[in-house]
Order: sequence, then structure tokens, then C-alpha cells
Amino acid sequence: MKCTQNGIFTEGELLRYGPIELSPSSGVLNYGQGLFEGLKAYRKEDGSILLFRPEENALRMRKGAERMCMPAPSVEKFVDAVKLTVLANKRWVPPTGKGSLYIRPLLIGSGAVLGLSPAPEYTFLIFVSPVGNYFKEGLAPVNLLVENEFHRAAPGGTGGVKTIGNYASVLKAQKKAKENGFSDVLYLDSTHKKYLEEVSSCNIFVVKNKVISTPEVKGTILPGITRKSIIDVALGQGYQVEERAVSVDEVLDADEVFCTGTAVVVTPVGSITFLGRRVEYGNKGVGAVSQELYSELTRLQMGLLEDKMGWTMKLN
Ligand code: PMP
Repeated sequence: MKCTQNGIFTEGELLRYGPIELSPSSGVLNYGQGLFEGLKAYRKEDGSILLFRPEENALRMRKGAERMCMPAPSVEKFVDAVKLTVLANKRWVPPTGKGSLYIRPLLIGSGAVLGLSPAPEYTFLIFVSPVGNYFKEGLAPVNLLVENEFHRAAPGGTGGVKTIGNYASVLKAQKKAKENGFSDVLYLDSTHKKYLEEVSSCNIFVVKNKVISTPEVKGTILPGITRKSIIDVALGQGYQVEERAVSVDEVLDADEVFCTGTAVVVTPVGSITFLGRRVEYGNKGVGAVSQELYSELTRLQMGLLEDKMGWTMKLN
């Protein structure tokens, strides 16, 4: 669906997946005016399909749009478009426990603009793809490299919203890490170069003496919907959870570390390497806290656990 600066999006339509037409002088191609979201649809054992907290993605896109000077669809329009797209592709939602349908909503400045200013027209579109595990390791632990040269975000920048440019800036660090045998990069804050921020596409949690800590949301990390959900799940399981500045020294001294995100769900961290020092966690296995939270969250998402929080939305 499309929208001019008046903020009102047209009705959506279903189109076959394929190339889209875009002006060479569109805002997204020239000035990076683009936002995306990521959420998943799961199949329940009775064959019905569940979305996990789609309104949260709609709200995050609206917040990001404000930062990027773009109009965004209302929460209702966003969720309706997600439902319509998933139902049209329901045969691609894998059976329970075999993966999920990844849903990628995109909002781009599609109108032509030459001087630096917001585009005069916007396009909102959604595409989907069935997915398995994000990391090839699956629930097995991943190995992270703490990045010392590159930063993902700076105070006052766009690190807190899901804009496309944030991901272009991490490609080089991620490529370097992968070439050296790591699964991904763990970024530090750009001011003190000492506090954890997040991984390229997920948030990070540190467990010490059964207390779970995670970097606070203050504009330079993405407020993950899985992060928010895991905090509530952990509190419900009786854990103490702290949202605060977590230093790199603390992560190197932790009992257990894990990442959260729509794609990675809950992924345990097997090792972290910082300035040549490698620390291993969880006895090369999946840490107990990661395992417990993974199991709680995935069972909820797949409809195997009673949804007391009202987080899942049934589609059919
Ligand atoms: N941080 C970044 C940079 C991400 O791209 C993602 C994935 N959206 C996350 C964290 C996790 O967010 P969520 O749990 O909403 O997927």
C-alpha cells in the first residue's frame, strides 16, 4: 500500500512475489529512508496459525517512522496487512516444531526526491519466507566476537529504530567475524567502549548467580520484542531481572550468556572473545537458564502452553 505525506495509506493488495518498480531518485535508494520489521507465524498442532505480538511490531515501526520523517500505517492497518499476507501464504507455514513463517514488513520512501529531504511518497509492503534456525548451530551455543573497532550505533543516532542503514553499517564487522570462525559480533557502546550493546540482529542477556541482566534501552540498541517478552517470562519464572549498563568485564565473568530475537528466538552463547581472550560458558552445552527460557517462549509461540499474557493472535 502507498501513502503521500498526508499519512493515509491506501488499501493493500496481494501481489505475486517479484521485482518492484522504484524510481532511481527514490528516498530509500538515495537517502536510506527505509524501515523494516520481522515477526513470525507458527503453526499449532491443530493446524491453526498463530502470530506472536504483531501489534508490538506495528508500534515499533510507527516509532521508527517518526525518527525517519516517514508516515507509517496504523497499528490496525499493519496487523490486518500481516494477517492477509500470512493467510494467503498459509501453506508455507511449517508444521509445529519444524520452523516458522518469517514475515518481513517494509516501509520505504518510494517517492522521487533530489535534494536532501523526506520523500513525497511511501510504500508499505510485506513478504514472507519459511525459515528454520537462524544460526546454523540451532539451539547449540554460538561464538561471539566483541568488536573493538566498529560500533553499531552512537547516542543521538538511529540505533534504537529498525532502519535499513543500521544493518549496512554492521556488514563489515560481521563479515570479518565470520571469516575468523565466529557466529556473530557483540557490540560495545561508542562512548566508553566498555558497556554491552547488542549483537548484529539480537539482544544480549547475561546470567550471574541466577540474576539475569541485560543492557537498558536508551536509544542505541533496538528494543527487541523478544527481549521484552523474555524479561516477562523470566520474571514469571521467579528470576531477578536487571535492565542496566552491563560491562564487558561482567560478560566475561558470567555463568551463562544468551541472545534473543525474532529470528534467533533464545540462542545460548558458547564463547565470547574480547581482545584475544576467549571465555567459554555453559560447559560447552546449553545453559540451564537459556534452555528454560527457550522452552517457555517457544511453547508459548507454538500454542503448546496456555497464553496467559495474551501474546498470540490466532489467524484461522
Ligand atoms: N537488535 C537488533 C539490531 C535486531 O535487528 C533485532 C531483530 N529485530 C533485535 C535486536 C531483536 O528484536 P526482536 O526481538 O524484536 O526481533
